[in-house]
Formats: sequence, C-alpha cells, structure tokens
Amino acid sequence: MNRKRILVTGGAGFIGSHLCEKLLEEGNDVVCMDNLFTGQKDNIRHLMDNPYFEFIRQDVLENIYVECDQIYNLACPASPVYYQYDPIKTGKTSVIGALHTLGLAKRCQARILQASTSEVYGDPEVHPQPESYRGCVNPNGIRSCYDEGKRMAETLFFDYYRQHGVDIKVVRIFNTYGPRMRLDDGRVISNFIVQALKNDDITIYGQGQQTRSFCYVDDMIKGIRCMMDSQEGFTGPVNLGNPNEITMLQLAHKIIELTGSKSKIVFLPLPQDDPVQRKPFIELAKNKLNWEPTVTLENGLERTIEYFMSILRHL
Ligand code: NAD
Ligand code: UDP
Repeated sequence: MNRKRILVTGGAGFIGSHLCEKLLEEGNDVVCMDNLFTGQKDNIRHLMDNPYFEFIRQDVLENIYVECDQIYNLACPASPVYYQYDPIKTGKTSVIGALHTLGLAKRCQARILQASTSEVYGDPEVHPQPESYRGCVNPNGIRSCYDEGKRMAETLFFDYYRQHGVDIKVVRIFNTYGPRMRLDDGRVISNFIVQALKNDDITIYGQGQQTRSFCYVDDMIKGIRCMMDSQEGFTGPVNLGNPNEITMLQLAHKIIELTGSKSKIVFLPLPQDDPVQRKPFIELAKNKLNWEPTVTLENGLERTIEYFMSILRHL
C-alpha cells in the first residue's frame, strides 16, 4: 500500500490529535511535532504504542529536520486566552513556523497544508464571509498577534507557491469544537460546558448578541483531509466551517438545557476587537472538495458534553 510519511505540527493539540488519529487509521506513518504549550500528551497517549506514530517534542521556531511526503502545519495556540499570553511568541510561531515548514516542504518536495483561520477576516463587514473578502483587521490590537501572524503565514505560503512552486493548500478554519479541548482552553464552548457541568456562572462577554458558527471536529477533519487530497494546483484558500450561525446568548441557553444545569448567566465586559459576527460561506468547499459539515450543533454539543463529563469525573 501507499504509506505516506506525514508531519503534523501542533499534532498534540485539539484538532491536531484528531488529525493524527485519522491519518494513522488511513495507514500512514505520522510524525507529530509539538512543544506542548497548549497541546497535551493525554491527547495522543492512545497513539503512542502504534509503531507508525512518533512524537517529537519540538518548537517550530527550531529548524525542522525530518523527511516527509506531506506536512500539515497546525502549530499555533488558537484560543485568545493562550495566544494573548505571549503575543510576541504567537506572531513568531505563525511566521517562523510557516518559514520552517515551507522550507522543509521545498526540500522534501512535500505537499503542505496551512491551518489558516477565519480570523484573517478580522471583525468582518461582509456577511457571511467568502474567500474573496479581504477582511477588516486591526494591525495593532490584542488579537493582531494571531490575526496578522496568520495573514503573514498565508502570504508566505503563496510566495513559496509562486516563487518556488511548492505544492501548497490553505484552509481557513472557522470556530471548531469537540472532545480534547482543554478544560481551561478559554474558548466559548469549552468554557460554557465546563461552567454548566459545575453549576458555575456562565460567563457571557458583552451582551451575548455576537454570533459565531460552530463546526464539530469530525467534520473539520474530513474537510482538512479532502483539501490535502484535492487536485494539484488547487491551492485555496478555502473556508472550512459550519454555516449554522448562533448568538452567544442562544449558545449559553442551549448548553444549560442540554446539561440540565442550574448555572446562572452573568455578563462580563467584551474584550477589545471581539468580532461581532462570523459565518463561513462554504460554496467553494462544496464545489471543489465535495465537502460540507453533517454534524448538527445539538449532536456535537452532546458528544462534547459527554467528553467533559468524563474528564471532570476523573479529576
Ligand atoms: P490547540 O491550541 O489545541 O493546538 C495548537 C497546537 O500547537 C498545540 O498542541 C500547541 O502545543 C502547539 N504549538 C503551539 N505553539 C507551538 C510552537 N511554537 N511549536 C510547536 N508546537 C506549538 O488549537 P487547535 O484548536 O487544535 O488549533 C489547531 C490549528 O488550527 C491552529 O493553527 C489554529 O490557529 C487553527 N485554527 C483552529 C480553529 C478552532 O476553532 N479550533 C479555528 C481557526 C484556526
Ligand atoms: N465568549 C464568551 N464567554 C466566554 C468565552 C468567550 O462570551 O467565556 C465569547 C467571545 O467574546 C466571543 C465568542 O464567545 O465573542 C467566541 O469566543 P472564542 O474565544 O471561542 O472564539 P473567537 O472569538 O476566537 O471566535
């Protein structure tokens, strides 16, 4: 069979660990590289005995020396709490991490996929967001280390494609959730579920009228895999996400209902530059990748709630 050697940077994180699992299931040889900043060994512990899985504890700021046929570049903290913890490092991770993985792709003639983000659209004035929209991003706010870092990474991907013919694929991931998010991840779904399960106050930032559109991780992994296997020359960027839009207030009520929680809702100040609305336009992914999400929010939330219940039981 055609066993590929695949490098996944950020492979011990939330999305990365699901991706490593999937790639192993498909019969590949997987090298997971992670500095364990937000990633966790527990996410990949069940893969450690597999002879075709290898974990390398390494920062993408260091030169990367591996031989591979494909690269998925996911290394970068994704939760605002974590990417704002050391914003200078976050910017470096996106930019230098892109340079190192692209250099590796060039040397190995490997196909390389970049995990870009809906944050490249900033606080969007166009709704829903198509790939052609160039965004409304603050270059010097508290989210800029992430947004501008990811934008620069996209620039580098396309420059390596044009200048060196590197076989690139760029996906713009919209809010994704599911099992293996950290208890203290800080993003909204994990926060609300953990608060609801503990009957703690549910913390809404602002009035809760801002919207997001949430994609369950299994759907996201399928989309990422479809993009990696898509026809040569189709570089993207392509939006991957679930267009089912919801306000944070509605989300809080839904999670209270699904968990049967006694939590109260409290309203806290809205952080700077928090996008007012976000919803992917996914016609490109539908047409080019024959992909669209299938897991409903209720179903995905139920599976995620089950995961957090088991984690809390074993604390
Ligand atoms: P995550 O924080 O769980 O995963 C990121 C992983 O990268 C972690 O394992 C972390 O330890 C690792 N990492 C961070 N800095 C590193 C460095 N300098 N060197 C090596 N490893 C490093 O987040 P996630 O949600 O799994 O996100 C994965 C990727 O997808 C990220 O690039 C993120 O920007 C992108 N993305 C995610 C979402 C989402 O909603 N989950 C949305 C848009 C984009
Ligand atoms: N949010 C919230 N309470 C929380 C965490 C987040 O109301 O405990 C809000 C946040 O202000 C934002 C939305 O939920 O408007 C999504 O936040 P998240 O950090 O999950 O992702 P992002 O803002 O990057 O889309």
